[in-house]
Amino acid sequence: MSMSTGSIFIVVAPSGAGKTSLVAALLKAASDVELSVSFTTRAPRAGEVDGQHYHFVSRDAFEAMIAAGDFLEYAEVYGNYYGTSVRWIRERTAAGHDILLEIDWQGARQVREIFPDAVGIFILPPSLQVLESRLRGRGTDSTEVVERRLAEARAEIALVGEYDYIVVNDEFEQARTDLLAVVRAVQLRAPRQCERLARVLAQMQPAG
Ligand code: GDP
Ligand code: ADP
Ligand code: 5GP
Repeated sequence: MSMSTGSIFIVVAPSGAGKTSLVAALLKAASDVELSVSFTTRAPRAGEVDGQHYHFVSRDAFEAMIAAGDFLEYAEVYGNYYGTSVRWIRERTAAGHDILLEIDWQGARQVREIFPDAVGIFILPPSLQVLESRLRGRGTDSTEVVERRLAEARAEIALVGEYDYIVVNDEFEQARTDLLAVVRAVQLRAPRQCERLARVLAQMQPAG
């Protein structure tokens, strides 16, 4: 039986824009989309669970994985390595599942070179002031880390033109609905629906 390949969604945002919160809300509403769990050398934050939020590994283990070709993409972000498992991505998309990658702009570029049809979505904060207050309000990062992430936010925002969709995260509920609309629109594209609905469509063919 032939089955269509799943779509790849890539969600990128400057740190603190609300990417993690929005993606969690999206995955609840779109239960057919699966999240890729990245590998990272960053220390777990309070409440983060190994294997669920990230696979937390040492720098040595990460470098061994790079050498073994285990990553579809990897990048150094704010002094830590982050990477996406190539095996998981290929298995899930080949089985027809839609997957979502929550990665940085460098990783997004690498993935889109390999999978040009991957859908790039950028989450934009309403302003830099709001971004700063959310980062500080989250209370998970040191002042130094917050300063560094804010400094890099402007450069990341300058790259919005590389993405297919831009969702502004001002009012959370609106942003959540917008993100879901993007995912649904991609899932409803005609070539894909034609494959998925082949049997039904065959029955609806004009007689003769
Ligand atoms: P937060 O997402 O800003 O709350 O902080 P994290 O420490 O969880 O992530 C820091 C950055 O690393 C974010 O820009 C993530 O999108 C990015 N990141 C997470 N996983 C991956 C990955 O597998 N590959 C790449 N290239 N970047 C990743
Ligand atoms: P990211 O993953 O992009 O770094 P988070 O999802 O951790 O961002 O969000 C950063 C902080 O801002 C969190 O404390 C989150 O609860 C809060 N937040 C996210 N979206 C909104 C919003 N629309 N309005 C107010 N606060 C928000
Ligand atoms: P670094 O200099 O530490 O590699 O990157 C710092 C920040 O600069 C990154 O987070 C990214 O947002 C931005 N940056 C790095 N390279 C480029 C680039 O080629 N173009 C643009 N516009 N920004 C970049």
